[in-house]
Amino acid sequence: MDSGQRGTILVVEDEKKISDIVRVYLEKDGFRTVVADTGEKAIKSLKEHFDLIILDLLLPDMQGEELCSLIRESSDVPIIMLTAKSGEEDRIRGLGIGADDYVVKPFSPRELVARVKAHLRRTRKSEKIRSFNNGALKMDAANYEMKKGDVMVTLTPTEFKILLALAEKPGRVLSRLQLVNMVQGYNFEGYDRTIDAHIKNLRHKIEDDPKNPTLIKTIYAIGYKFIGTPDEN
Ligand code: CA
Repeated sequence: MDSGQRGTILVVEDEKKISDIVRVYLEKDGFRTVVADTGEKAIKSLKEHFDLIILDLLLPDMQGEELCSLIRESSDVPIIMLTAKSGEEDRIRGLGIGADDYVVKPFSPRELVARVKAHLRRTRKSEKIRSFNNGALKMDAANYEMKKGDVMVTLTPTEFKILLALAEKPGRVLSRLQLVNMVQGYNFEGYDRTIDAHIKNLRHKIEDDPKNPTLIKTIYAIGYKFIGTPDEN
């Protein structure tokens, strides 16, 4: 199987021996892997999309818990924690830091890969295709694809995230700042007015008449609201 066909996994682990083993096993199974050996490198690499994150609890520059809650501020990517000492598993269970699973070292790489696959199966099932206005707009969040009717429309990742953030809360007004926080994540360069420029481009791509939008409505002085109607499925 080609590397990366199954998805991309971020491995945050400072012990090279361990990250090497994890990487080899994941790649053997068709995953693409990115390894970060510090918390700082992990945060930097988060601009890329990952299907799952394997996160060591003890990093040289940061606690895994801290990194986990940071990731959770902007993403619900599945996280599997690697813990070294007995007792750490109790900490994870007790802290409710947003990890989806944990594996205690020393662990079987095969078991870790099996858990990775189980989590991905679960997420993929929940990422169903969203359809609005009798199929006029369809969004496939798992593949970053959008269709207007039957025509595939190319959106930039930021446009896609803005549209998804709005479409997930039909009828609810989101302020520009809320949208910046929801779509930019760790990319702090965004200024809330840049949202207006993205919305303008989005409307040209998704609305029949961008001047009379039927999907994204401007709420004067506040932000935007998704006014499409979700289809029953
Ligand atoms: Ca460590």
